[in-house]
Amino acid sequence: MLVFGPIPSRRLGRSLGINNIPPKVCTYSCIYCQVGSTDTMTIDRKDFYSTDQIYDEVSEKITSIKGSGEKIDYLTFVPDGEPTLDINLGKTIERLMSFGIKIAVITNASLIWDKEVQNDLRQANWVSVKLDSVYEDIWRKINRPHGSLNLQKIIRGIEEFAFSFCEELVTETMVVKGVNDSIESLSKTAQKICEINPRKSFILIPSLPPAEKSVKPPSEEILNRAFQIYSSLLPDVELIVYSEGTDFGYSSDAEKELLSILAVHPMRKDAVDNFLSRSNSIWDLIDHLVLINKLKEITYSGTTFLIKNITR
Ligand code: SF4
Repeated sequence: MLVFGPIPSRRLGRSLGINNIPPKVCTYSCIYCQVGSTDTMTIDRKDFYSTDQIYDEVSEKITSIKGSGEKIDYLTFVPDGEPTLDINLGKTIERLMSFGIKIAVITNASLIWDKEVQNDLRQANWVSVKLDSVYEDIWRKINRPHGSLNLQKIIRGIEEFAFSFCEELVTETMVVKGVNDSIESLSKTAQKICEINPRKSFILIPSLPPAEKSVKPPSEEILNRAFQIYSSLLPDVELIVYSEGTDFGYSSDAEKELLSILAVHPMRKDAVDNFLSRSNSIWDLIDHLVLINKLKEITYSGTTFLIKNITR
């Protein structure tokens, strides 16, 4: 099946996924990949599935979803591999546009130096590019790229694309404990992302079983540090620390809202105070959430923040 969902996505609302690459064909073999190790490592773009085949499956799915009264916010290319390896990507996006639903592509950006790939991605409404580190040695360690790829060429490709892309460009950085979570790597990567000037920058952590067992998420302290470093340079930063679509279960409105905010954005204590008074709640709620390990207090540069506990 080439189409799945719709799945709830924090970034894209209700997203209908399109799997335009067979598992697991990729240009990278990231240590944190949730699909497992790469079987076919390649940088050659190919014809995997025809535009007609994808169009027909999407069409059928849209008809059945609309019939059940559900809505779809995005058609998202998010395959079990790298979507830009599909040589028909641009043509397929163009065809899917006829449904009147926005199109998103989540790419590792490793082929974005190729003008044809840039042209294909320019057809989309929303593109996410991966930049885990601007340091060559860290990039090799975390993304384990195909031998002929060159990080500087990829970064220049992202900059070129960002300059010419008029729709929504976002970046994503997966932070892995002990691999790319140093202040140097985070700062330099955030500086480069700042030059790329995306609409939004996402910081992710491995939240599903990764390809390598040794991969661990960073601590809340490090995650908050990453968030502060990125936020000092970039206008819109969001954390994604759970697999998307997580339901927090029963809770009061204030609790639910606060947990939703703190999962994507650490808050200073004074901001939490402000939130509590606006929602007619008292600090006891925070003490309770800390006690049951849903929240954690951490200090960064002399300021105390509250963040959702990721190690519970
Ligand atoms: S780029 Fe994506 S699909 Fe490819 S190995 Fe990395 S995480 Fe997996």
